[in-house]
Amino acid sequence: MNDTPATTTDVLIVGAGPVGLALAADLHRHGVLFRLVDRKGGPERYSKAANFWPRTQEVAHAIGFGPEVHRIAVAVRATTVHAFGQLLGTVPTRSRPTTPFPETLAVNQGKVEGIVSAHLEAHGHRVEYGTAFVSLAQDDAGVTVELEDANGRREIVRARYVVGTDGGKSRVREAAGIRLTPVRLEGKGLQQVDARLRWSRPVTHDHIWFYLFDSGFCGIVPLPDKLYRFFLCRDLERVPDRAPTLEEMNLALREITGDPSAEFYDPAWFSHGLFAYGVAETYRARRVLLAGDAGHNTIPIGGQGMNAAIQDAFNLGWKLAAVLRDGSSEALLDTYAVERRAVRAELAQDQKDNFNRLMRPTALTKFVQRSFGAFVLRRTQSVELGRRDEAQLSVNYPRSPLSVDRLRRGRVRAGDRAPDAPVVRASDLTTTTLFADVYAGGWTLVLFDGGRAAACSELEALALEVRASLPAVRTLRVLAAESASRTMAHDVRLDLDRLAHARFDVRQPCVYLVRPDGYIGYRGGAADLGGLLKYAGLVLRLGVAQPGVRSSLRT
Ligand SMILES: Cc1cc2nc3c(=O)[nH]c(=O)nc-3n(C[C@H](O)[C@H](O)[C@H](O)COP(=O)(O)OP(=O)(O)OC[C@H]3O[C@@H](n4cnc5c(N)ncnc54)[C@H](O)[C@@H]3O)c2cc1C
Repeated sequence: MNDTPATTTDVLIVGAGPVGLALAADLHRHGVLFRLVDRKGGPERYSKAANFWPRTQEVAHAIGFGPEVHRIAVAVRATTVHAFGQLLGTVPTRSRPTTPFPETLAVNQGKVEGIVSAHLEAHGHRVEYGTAFVSLAQDDAGVTVELEDANGRREIVRARYVVGTDGGKSRVREAAGIRLTPVRLEGKGLQQVDARLRWSRPVTHDHIWFYLFDSGFCGIVPLPDKLYRFFLCRDLERVPDRAPTLEEMNLALREITGDPSAEFYDPAWFSHGLFAYGVAETYRARRVLLAGDAGHNTIPIGGQGMNAAIQDAFNLGWKLAAVLRDGSSEALLDTYAVERRAVRAELAQDQKDNFNRLMRPTALTKFVQRSFGAFVLRRTQSVELGRRDEAQLSVNYPRSPLSVDRLRRGRVRAGDRAPDAPVVRASDLTTTTLFADVYAGGWTLVLFDGGRAAACSELEALALEVRASLPAVRTLRVLAAESASRTMAHDVRLDLDRLAHARFDVRQPCVYLVRPDGYIGYRGGAADLGGLLKYAGLVLRLGVAQPGVRSSLRT
């Protein structure tokens, strides 16, 4: 490195793909100083990722760019599945009662990047496009980074933390000495085209088709601008190492669908690739953290990569803010590394299993699909590719050091994502949601009365105690006992039909302490103030965010 004077920042984010942009937008919300650089000239022009799952929508709304994604995206209403020459059936998009965003949205990555980039600009931040990461050196107090602009001018930046969001071939990862060894999945290749479609089926732009065949599988998924994405996974001999032509894709389309009228036209983007996956050995090396594809090379099956990347950003944003702004211990950053690496390792395994199941069907699989596939689809009304729910709503951190559960019963436990439910504000009888409070910034203590009138005064005393000893924690009393409708307190939410109680599977008085990213940190009995304060002492001091950050989930 040369002697150019260093500029300083708290967080240097290297790479303005979906994860770098989402992290920057979240850090802005938390009032953290950052710089975001990317070597490319502007937001991604091509589609790449094509879907926005419900959990990603929750996160985007909490950060603030969700409404704009909703405005331009296409909602997917139904999926039709064909397997080995047979129509199995059509299922509507699954109902997902625990989220305000139950739909699967189709929207391309380039558009999402443009939206977040504009969101940052509207809030006074500039993505520094045309600026490449060159090298880094760490010491106990920070990281010295060398950047290079498009004209070859070098700049030295001093940052307290660097986040490598620079994609699968991450140079930040390499410079921090973190290993990621991708494993190739041999014998198959991927070809894609985004184009307009005409064929002998209705083209309604809210419908997905999947076709399973002997040597692979393909899908036709809607995109904005009346386009469709046709992705085709098949034997490598049929996937030359170049972009496919429209004629090749149309030939495959007709062959697989058996529809001679089928045709893509006005193509917008072609792509092709191989399948490889791998997870970095760690997500943190002292002051350098990894997120998105830099930490996990995903297989583009099941539409998880961009979506999981945005979850990485949301897990990391409040933790960096707590460390940098509130003086929390750096150990909080280790919980990011542990939680997200575990989720990514599980996802990688699941994607690999799905790949083998879909691309190399055994004679038995084919027999079962042909004989029982339609029945199973009718019964389950769901097209889940693997063990995990692809909407990423059930991603959880049960083994995290931040998850402490002191109750035995109940489905929704510490480490799980807190579900949403409609509730009524006792102060003015307006309808609201749990999410409006949970994503208003900071930690939220949700106190349930379990429908017992006798518990109400106990919860009130507990809420007062918590507000006195942990002033940055918002309290929310969710009361189902009918006598509760007489209270007007500002922190009471009425739940007389027990919708919120049911979503949390609560039958007795208890409390949930919810993290700023909507995950349950602590669960315990309503009388167990000691347990709660112990958790607060040990863990909460690590990361209490100030209330008042912006979120479009607030009402
Ligand atoms: C064909 C295809 C289809 C896909 N379909 C889906 C899908 O349907 N759903 C889904 O969820 N995911 C999908 N994915 C995966 C998704 O695109 C990635 O997971 C996502 O892009 C990860 O985002 P990221 O921000 O981590 O990395 P990237 O998007 O790769 O962004 C990294 C950024 O870092 C920048 N950069 C790199 N090196 C440097 C450097 N030295 N200095 C400065 N900047 C640098 C790059 O210019 C880039 O902008 C698909 C991927 C492909 C290729």
